[in-house]
Amino acid sequence: TSAESVLITQQSHEEFFKVLRNNKDNATEQKVVVVSVSPQSRASLAAHFNLSSSEAGRRLTTFFKGLGVHHVFDTSFSRTFSLLESQREFVERLQRKEQDSKALPMLTSACPGWICYAEKTHGEFILPYISTTRSPQQMMGSLVKGYFADQQGLSPHQIYHVAVMPCFDKKLEASRSDFYLDKAETREVDCVITSGEVQKMLEEEHLSLNDLEPAALDKMFSSVCGNEFLSHAGSGSGGYLHHVFTYAAKRLFGEEVKELKYKTLRNKDFQEVTLEKDGVVLLSFASTYGFRNIQNLVQKLKRGKMPYHFVEVMACPSGCLNGGGQVKALPGQNPKELLKKVEELYMAEHSQLPEDDTDVAELYETWLHSLGEEKAKELLHTHYHTVEKMINGLTMKW
Ligand code: SF4
Repeated sequence: TSAESVLITQQSHEEFFKVLRNNKDNATEQKVVVVSVSPQSRASLAAHFNLSSSEAGRRLTTFFKGLGVHHVFDTSFSRTFSLLESQREFVERLQRKEQDSKALPMLTSACPGWICYAEKTHGEFILPYISTTRSPQQMMGSLVKGYFADQQGLSPHQIYHVAVMPCFDKKLEASRSDFYLDKAETREVDCVITSGEVQKMLEEEHLSLNDLEPAALDKMFSSVCGNEFLSHAGSGSGGYLHHVFTYAAKRLFGEEVKELKYKTLRNKDFQEVTLEKDGVVLLSFASTYGFRNIQNLVQKLKRGKMPYHFVEVMACPSGCLNGGGQVKALPGQNPKELLKKVEELYMAEHSQLPEDDTDVAELYETWLHSLGEEKAKELLHTHYHTVEKMINGLTMKW
């Protein structure tokens, strides 16, 4: 819609530069600028500059702080919340499947390309299956404009929050009316810029990550061990299948799954994994990437022939590491080789179990519990809409 287009053009690296310039020129109307960087963007920029992902992350911190950014956080940290909530949501859905025919399969919701397609094309039919858990980007929105704002004694509108993502559709996600704070008249994520736009910013500043000194990392909302970032096991799109599967196997069936054995179906972007005991299938999960596979999945669901309990759905073939907003291959560089390099850099980051992150556990304990169940749910989950409701929502905010 035209409202969507206007909201999206408000999210560009030019807009981000404008806010930084305004901060320098206008001392009385300063905003606290926070940037959260996704691990997929880190890997893409690392591949471009021949660095490790952690090294790229530390040099990006130097770059952003040199421009006047106050805090640089890491989206793996907020992804831990998304994974923990997805695990809980899946168990809750599985336990109510006898009373609710639409409790399963649970379809992941972190990909706005897929969500937009589902809402616009399949509407009411598909919405109950989609996980209500917020994506890592919007979890970080709750953390920055909620917890961080409180800690700093700031109102949410005094913070300008920029997310660096591998994806243009994340701009659309940030613009959804569900993520607009009515009272504060501000969005939880003010601006999304892609990995490629960060590369453009470096070029415009005549800088290369290779020439910058690595900075110490902001520890507040970052999953780090010393100067290294920590990530999550599983796919380059967040590892949802991996973590929900291992958690459910242990929690529901007492099975410790050390290694997931994937079976490739029609193509490498359609894989499944099952947990069996005594010839009985206890869990049946799949990952479905790219629109051809997604269409096939939806058709199966419509025909009532869905064999899965859980599906990790992503719009891009090969997932987020191959997102449209990643840094493009150089002239003469093979895009497939580049993707392989990005995947290797991403996978080289040490991973940790979401359940083992003590900083996140402490935030559940101290922050979310103090807010009460209803408010915590609002901050960690979201809603989906048919296209008519979505347009009305955007128009109202506009
Ligand atoms: Fe964005 Fe593609 Fe990842 Fe979906 S799969 S979130 S469209 S990069």
